[in-house]
Amino acid sequence: MATGTSNPFELAPKLVTSFIDGAWVGDQGGYRIPTFYPGNGQIISELQEADANEVDRAVRSARRAFNDPEWAGMAIEARQAILCRIADAIDANAYELATLETLNAGIVRRDVLGRQVVRAAYNFRFFAEVISQQPGQVWQQNKDYLTFVTRHPVGVAALIAPWNSPLALASMKVAAAIAYGNTCVLKPSEQTPLSLARMVEIINGITPPGVVNLVNGRGQITGSALVDHADVDLIAFTGGTETGRTIMQAAGRRLKPAAVELGGKSANIIFADADQERALDGALVSIFSNNGQQCLAGSRILVQDSIFDDFVGRFVERARKIKVGDPLSDETEIGPIASARHREHILSYVDIAKSQGATLLTGGRALDRDGYFIEPTAVLAPSNSDRVCQEEIFGPFASFVKFSDAEDAIRMANESQFGLVGYLWTQNVDKALRVSQAIRTGLMWVNTPMVRELRAPFGGVKDSGLGRDGATSSMAFFTEEKTTTIPIADVPLRKFGA
Ligand code: NDP
Repeated sequence: MATGTSNPFELAPKLVTSFIDGAWVGDQGGYRIPTFYPGNGQIISELQEADANEVDRAVRSARRAFNDPEWAGMAIEARQAILCRIADAIDANAYELATLETLNAGIVRRDVLGRQVVRAAYNFRFFAEVISQQPGQVWQQNKDYLTFVTRHPVGVAALIAPWNSPLALASMKVAAAIAYGNTCVLKPSEQTPLSLARMVEIINGITPPGVVNLVNGRGQITGSALVDHADVDLIAFTGGTETGRTIMQAAGRRLKPAAVELGGKSANIIFADADQERALDGALVSIFSNNGQQCLAGSRILVQDSIFDDFVGRFVERARKIKVGDPLSDETEIGPIASARHREHILSYVDIAKSQGATLLTGGRALDRDGYFIEPTAVLAPSNSDRVCQEEIFGPFASFVKFSDAEDAIRMANESQFGLVGYLWTQNVDKALRVSQAIRTGLMWVNTPMVRELRAPFGGVKDSGLGRDGATSSMAFFTEEKTTTIPIADVPLRKFGA
């Protein structure tokens, strides 16, 4: 791939293929998938889809690397050094990786450089540190025996990533998988292969061949061949809830562990006693960052009735001033939606909202220019049961609802099929504790938006997923426990046939 060019589009390779056993697969014809720059709708690259045979080669490469003593027998210090070198290499290639992410996903490059790429590098550094610090378990209550538990890599991991934030999400999976001694095959979304193709190439400059492999193609072809492969040992998936169910079915058929991080419709609860300015900033960040396309968006904004009109009025005023435009420009705050189809999906909710009696407060239209841009949008919903409050829209689209008191807010927040995160703004500590514990989610953020503490578990409940990332949680998923018992006294045995 090209580097060091002033024309960002020259960084996009003409053709992206699979990366197997330390090398790019050659141009083999077959099914081709165009990838688009959402900023103008032009094709910038093509994918060569991996069919079941190619997926099989990738899995066999990962298996060979898993069994190779070079990887399987590697000292922890050597694996730590590899993870740190990967982090350094990501930092060194930050500009290229960020540009590729922007060209494919439409996220503002300044944000990718300042957040996602930093996070991608940190994911590797983080696991380098974690793996050297984990204690084991020894059981010695039984005076005749010593029992200890050792942890072992599981094997070949299938890692499936979505299109909304490929670098940050896929790097977490790859870092955790290889930190614990597994090998992997990564499948990015067919819409956003570019940054991850480059990341896998960078990683392969550091790891032994076959440790990290890449296959590209549609979910139903390449993705399902991967999760259904008999020699894959575990599956880590981030994506939509319906796809998550399909993945769990495949995992169930083959009795493989699977962790699925799925969608959300998170409540952002703003009490009258909150720091209003901070809550306003937080509400805007949690629905509009990453172009509104994030699983942990605070997309259902519940505001207490006594401050409702004032808060919503100030939100709308700020939303109208957000700079929507070229994601390669440092001035831009919101870039384009990732695909034309997804833009139509988001905009369809304007009519859905109106048909259920909602008021369009601002936005609701595509920008009159090339690319998949839409205005930051907000609606006032008559009821929390309306579709704009229950369905994941996954875009810069906020739904406002009014609540009366803490019990009302808790009830509404819990009236959802999802349970990924929740936001809560109040200066009353008692209320903060009571409400945050009463809401059924995997995470709660109180008086702050989106602090991702990697040491702590991350993941959802209900239709938002199964399983957690994080220091201890990732270790539990990416390793298997083995219990070994040895007598430490002269324990007589029964003598059959004596
Ligand atoms: P999808 O579920 O459509 O796709 C996710 C990934 O799965 C893609 O790589 C896709 O490939 C692949 N895939 C699709 N079908 C299959 C299949 N049958 N077998 C194997 N793989 C398959 O989700 P999106 O890409 O649309 O991502 C958006 C969703 O992800 C949102 O709902 C969002 O909430 C959720 N998400 C959750 C996060 C979390 O941490 N909880 C974080 C970020 C997003 P392809 O695209 O090539 O078809």
